[in-house]
Order: sequence, then C-alpha cells, then structure tokens
Amino acid sequence: MCGIVGYVGSKEAAPILVQGLRRLEYRGYDSAGIAVVGNDGDVHSLRRAGKLDRLAEAVEAVGPGGTCGIGHTRWATHGPPTVENAHPHLSNDGSIALVHNGIIENAGSLRTKLEQEGVTFRSDTDTEVVVHLIDRLWEEGDTLEDAVAAALDRVIGAYGIAVISSRDPGKIVVARNGSPLLLGVGKNGEVLVGSDAAAVIAHTRNVVYLDDGDYAVLTAEGYRTYHIHQGQVQRKVHEVTWDLEAIERSGFDHFMKKEIFEQPRSLEDVTRGRLLEEEGSARLGGITISDRELLEVDRIIITACGTSWHSALIGEYLLEELARIPTKVEYASEFRYKNPVVDERTLVICVSQSGETADTLAALREAKQRGARVMGIVNVVGSSIARETDFGVYLHAGPEIGVASTKAFTSQVAALALFTLYLARRRNLSILEGRRLVKALQELPGQVAEILLQDEAIEELARRYVDSPNFLYLGRGFQFPVALEGALKLKEVSYIHAEGYPAAEMKHGPIALIDEKMPVVFLAPKDPVYHKVLSNIEEVKARSGRVIAVVNDGTEELEGKVDHFIRVPETHPALLPILTVVPLQLLAYHVAVLRGCDVDQPRNLAKSVTVE
Ligand code: GLU
Repeated sequence: MCGIVGYVGSKEAAPILVQGLRRLEYRGYDSAGIAVVGNDGDVHSLRRAGKLDRLAEAVEAVGPGGTCGIGHTRWATHGPPTVENAHPHLSNDGSIALVHNGIIENAGSLRTKLEQEGVTFRSDTDTEVVVHLIDRLWEEGDTLEDAVAAALDRVIGAYGIAVISSRDPGKIVVARNGSPLLLGVGKNGEVLVGSDAAAVIAHTRNVVYLDDGDYAVLTAEGYRTYHIHQGQVQRKVHEVTWDLEAIERSGFDHFMKKEIFEQPRSLEDVTRGRLLEEEGSARLGGITISDRELLEVDRIIITACGTSWHSALIGEYLLEELARIPTKVEYASEFRYKNPVVDERTLVICVSQSGETADTLAALREAKQRGARVMGIVNVVGSSIARETDFGVYLHAGPEIGVASTKAFTSQVAALALFTLYLARRRNLSILEGRRLVKALQELPGQVAEILLQDEAIEELARRYVDSPNFLYLGRGFQFPVALEGALKLKEVSYIHAEGYPAAEMKHGPIALIDEKMPVVFLAPKDPVYHKVLSNIEEVKARSGRVIAVVNDGTEELEGKVDHFIRVPETHPALLPILTVVPLQLLAYHVAVLRGCDVDQPRNLAKSVTVE
C-alpha cells in the first residue's frame, strides 16, 4: 500500500504534491518522490529514501517548477526502501515518469523480455516494467493514454498508476485495477488525483471514485474518464463530507476496526500469485534456498513475540501436522538466554510484523551465529529482520497502524500455511491434500467477509459482558493458539483480565474461577477435536459459567448448552484459526470501545517494540 498524488492546473505542482503526500504518509513511509513536466518541457524528478521530510527539504531547495506532476510515498513490496527503488520510475530516455500502488504479478517475465530487448533496469521494483512497457509500445502519433492502454493490456496484477510524459505534456494519465484511486475536481479546470480523498481535500471536496478497469486523462482544462471495455464513461462526482482524520481511517472510527475489516483484502494479497492450483502447492519467490538445502533441514524453531508468537504456535501445528517435521516455538526473548540447541540442519523462522522487534532480531542473530539457517516472515519490506534473514516470505498486508495487531496476525498464519504447503509438498504431502489446501486458501477472503457481517451482533454481545472483570478463552489443537490470541486482544485494548488455555487443561486449575459471572469463550468449530471440546463445554455449564461458542454449521447439539453462538464458515481444519480469530478481534474491539478505551493506542503499549 502506498500513496499516490497528482496535480495539473495553473499553480506550481511541486508544493501541492508534497502537501498531498503528507496527508497520505500513513499509507506508506519508507521513501517518497515526485516528478513534474518542467517549464522547459522536460521531466524532472526528485526522490528520497526515508521519511517525507527529506523529500520536502529537497523540493524546497530545488523546487522543480511546472504545473503538471505526480508524487508517491512508498510502502515497499518489491525491493528495499532505497532511493533507486523509490517512485517515480522513469523510462530510459527520461521522457516518461510513473508512480504505482500495488503489485505487478508478471513483472518477472516482463522484465526478462524487456532486458533482452535492451532496456536497462535501475530498480528492484515490480513497478519499473510498466514505464518501460509504455515507452516500448508508444508508436508514432500515439497519445500518452494510447501508450498506457497498450502497456496495461500486457500487465497482470493490482495497480493504481499515474503517468506523465514530456512527449505529451500538460497531461496526467491515471488507471486503476485493484488499488484505490480518485480524482479531485478543483476550481478553474484544475484536477488532482489521489489514493484517497485525504490527498486532495485541501483543494477540493468534489471527488470522482474510479472503478476497476477505469482510466482517466487529466489536463488543466478538466478530465475525461474511460473504461477499458466500455470506452468513454461518466463517473459521478461525490462531495466529501468527512473530516480529514476520519478519511485517513476511511470512515472507520478506529484504525483497529479498519484493519479488522481489511482482512479479506490482506488475505487476498498474501496469497496473490503464490498458489499453484494444479500442483497443489505454493510458489514463494522469497524462498531462495535450494530444494536440496531445504530438505536437509530436520528441525524447525519458530521464534517471535506477542501476537506473532501466537501465529508461530499455529505454525507449529501446521508444520508438524502437514509437513511432518519436528517444530518448536520459542519466545524470542527466552531463546537467546537458554543455550538453544540449533545447528546447520535447524531452520529458525523469525515472525514479526514490523521486522524490527528487538527480541526477535536478537534471537535471529543468535541463531545465525550458531550456524542455523534463518528465515523471516515479516510485513515491512527492507526492515532489519527482512535484511538479516537468509530468505523469507513477506505478508504484503499494508501498514498496520492500530497497536493491537489484527490483519498482520491472519496474514502471518496464511504465510506460515503457504510455507508449510511449499515444504510439505516437497517432503510428504499428497497432491490431493495440497490442492485441498490451495482451494481452502483461495476461499478465505470471502469467508472472512462473511464473518464481518456479524459485526453488529458481536457488538451486542460485547454490551452484555462489558462489565466482566475476567474472561476465559478455551480451545484445543489448532484452536488453542486462537484462544491465547483472543485473550491477548481483549487484555491489550480493554484492560480486562483474560486468560487463554487449552480447553482440557481447564480442569487442572482455571475451573476454580468459574461461576455464573464468568464469560468463557469456547472455540468449538467442527474439527477433529470437536467432540472433546463439547465435554469441556459441559463442564463449564455444570458450574453455571456463561458460554460464548465460536462454531460452524452443523453443531446443533450445542443448542441449549451455550449462551451465545458466533458462526464461522467451514474450511480446512488447519486454516480455521484464520476464521475463528476474526470474531474474537471484533469482540475485543467492541468491549474496549464500550469501556471508553483508546483502542488504537492502548496504554503502555507500542506498535513495534524495538527495545529488549
Ligand atoms: N510494488 C511497488 C513497489 O514495491 C509499489 C508498492 C507500493 O504500493 O507502495 O515499489
């Protein structure tokens, strides 16, 4: 996820672009750049790695003059956040500049072909292929939009793009397929473009949302919108009524809720281009280790902290169950102080949203020093853990701003499932079982969207239990780590004491806590341990506890035994945690809001813990 902005009109573009980028900085913040068609008719571009301030200073000093330009704040998906990888990217002759938000899935093959044709690439990004394609396909007499359309015809993936060129000056061409883009209709013909309304609101409240498949041509005299199959189309002008802060949260009251609701999208992004339906396997470009070396691994240790530690636990169940490889999970903070048994046949997987978690980074270094192979599962491209591991899998979940992790958790579990599939198919897993998993992974985004429809019912449930001083979360097998995660979410954002336990362990201690005031959240979907969990529910009911059960259809025998149901769709038992955790995130969120807590910035917590 990144931020795109563009301006064409009668004013100086550069300061407007920087101001727009500032409003979009929450979307991505590892590097930024602008390009304008200058008063001399050439394209001038300025890019800086790091925070936007560095670009702003450069723009102030150099101030490329010109009234038509584009800008970008990057959230890297392909290649580290260096100045070479920052957008805009330019054609070899410098006459075309392009910014992009999204992922070009066939970038690898396009790049090979373009290189064979003599094109020089200057970055590691997937984006750069698009600008070279536009250049190569631009024929005598073509307009910028003709060349862009020809290039997009050959591109597979998700994009929002904005392009300018000295060959067809005074014009911005924008296109959207899967990444957000809107036009801001200003005064006296001026037009802006932005990834969201925050980028344009300082100039106009009138916006035109582009649909997938739309492209538009912007000039100082106005704009025209087209659809690739329908030709010229009219898109409605909307008036933005929200304040700036709300727009950045896309109308949600909190980032946490926005991120919970982004999960259908983030789950799609983590699997995008990575599933091999026929082979029943996964394609993971970041796993650069050879199959021979991978098969030499005889033991896996997953190390992480907090919510990532819970996804690691699910990873342990996944890897042992499906890839039949001994796997252990360690708190990163414990790993390095206990003289861990690792050698060159051990694979140590480090899981961290930010890729900067100090304890996990220290564990990584310890493992490396002891000769283990180290792999990263991180969200932030170019982060320390991403750089220091031998290979890894990125989440591509977009920036997570709410301190309590939600979408990064489900993407971590999905990434661990992808890696398990990759490894298991090389070790022991049958093609049929592999295909079953691939299919189940493809269905997850839609299934999560279905669960989100229960938001209001879960809010109602939260209202009933908002005053409970304690909560218990119970689950078995794959659902045990979900119980831990449900309890942690509630603790983090609502400050209610909550504990997660393996359901059967309850009778060895926590059962003493149960009385008619104690809400007990049971993870009881139809999986191989479902009938065992039923007995545990009976034990709680026998002591008058209040039972909230997360189930799927076909669990009628629970009718009358539990106080509240939350239903999730059916999937492969190994992927169920991705579904069952979603209602628990919503429950924690609503309880916290009802208690008046600051859900996005809970007391005493920090988003990425960069101290030991
Ligand atoms: N995939 C592109 C890159 O890595 C765009 C990322 C973005 O949306 O910021 O540069």
